[in-house]
Amino acid sequence: MGKLKVSQGVLYGNELRDVYAYCKEQKCAFPAVNVIGSSSTNAALEAARQAQSPIIVQFSNGGSHFNAGKYLDNTNQQAAIAGGIAGAHHIHVLARAYGVPVILHTDHCAKKLLPWVDGLIAAGEEYYRIHKRPLYSSHMLDLSEEPLNENIEISAQYAQRLAKIDMALEMELGVTGGEEDGVDNTDIDASRLYTQPEEVLKTYETLTPLGHITIAAAFGNTHGVYKPGNVKLTPIILKNSQDMVEKEHKTEKNPISFVFHGGSGSEKSKITESLGYGVVKMNIDTDTQWAFTRPIRKYMEEKSAYLQSQLGNPEGQDKPNKKHIDPRAWVVNGEKGITERLLEAYRDLGSFGAFTF
Ligand SMILES: [Zn+2]
Repeated sequence: MGKLKVSQGVLYGNELRDVYAYCKEQKCAFPAVNVIGSSSTNAALEAARQAQSPIIVQFSNGGSHFNAGKYLDNTNQQAAIAGGIAGAHHIHVLARAYGVPVILHTDHCAKKLLPWVDGLIAAGEEYYRIHKRPLYSSHMLDLSEEPLNENIEISAQYAQRLAKIDMALEMELGVTGGEEDGVDNTDIDASRLYTQPEEVLKTYETLTPLGHITIAAAFGNTHGVYKPGNVKLTPIILKNSQDMVEKEHKTEKNPISFVFHGGSGSEKSKITESLGYGVVKMNIDTDTQWAFTRPIRKYMEEKSAYLQSQLGNPEGQDKPNKKHIDPRAWVVNGEKGITERLLEAYRDLGSFGAFTF
């Protein structure tokens, strides 16, 4: 099988569908990395260039706000909306400069955060009117805390609105455990950490006629890295769900495009297993946060004697420390850390070098 040729820039519409279909055929997936500004974004674009594979870059609600500036007033989500729009424009320009395809996405949006995604969609509709392409490839809604009917009903409204501007929708069934970005599910009832195949079937039946849908199904996955506990990663839930939809609707194999949340710290064998069941996207946040922070800590430790004041170091009392203090000297180490961790993820997910662009 030849490599799939993919356009450079932000992917959307039918091309995005084709890319995910190809992933399912090839049993490969993309890393989806949470970014918080230009540094982490550029590190992700560099990873895509080195891996010769599209990258999924996503802003969480907190990440969007951070991108705008942590102290900018966020009444009615205005800072998070502005940060999300600014981040998207940065990526539209630089994806082309790096010559890489990017799937541009937003992460978990609970019911109370809907004004954030509403603001991004409004900006996306305006962008589409001018450029005939969307600002983002897709948004995620996470209404998994609401009753299933309400989750599906609200997701249906958004799926239709997004379809009009060639965008996809990711929705969540079941609950991802752990804690991330202020959403704490560490105490949730364990049964909710496992999606039922019937829920996937119902979602498929209601939502797929309306737009391009991907499903974050819970199979014991958690946000964050924890000591192995009583929650067990059970990718077979994904297979059982695919089988049920296939049987009921006589579809091709793996009709659902699944999203694997909480990829950080997951066993490699479970990652590989999930790829056979239609996972096209694996979210990775904690591991790339660590990949950014660790080399910076190392720099601070190694250069400690040069970072005590602007003047004076072991080479002399009057020696200037400007080049060691310059944030570019050490932020770049964090960027390299993210890029390297993402290259590892591409290899784990079978998408390293699987595309041309
Ligand atoms: Zn998640």
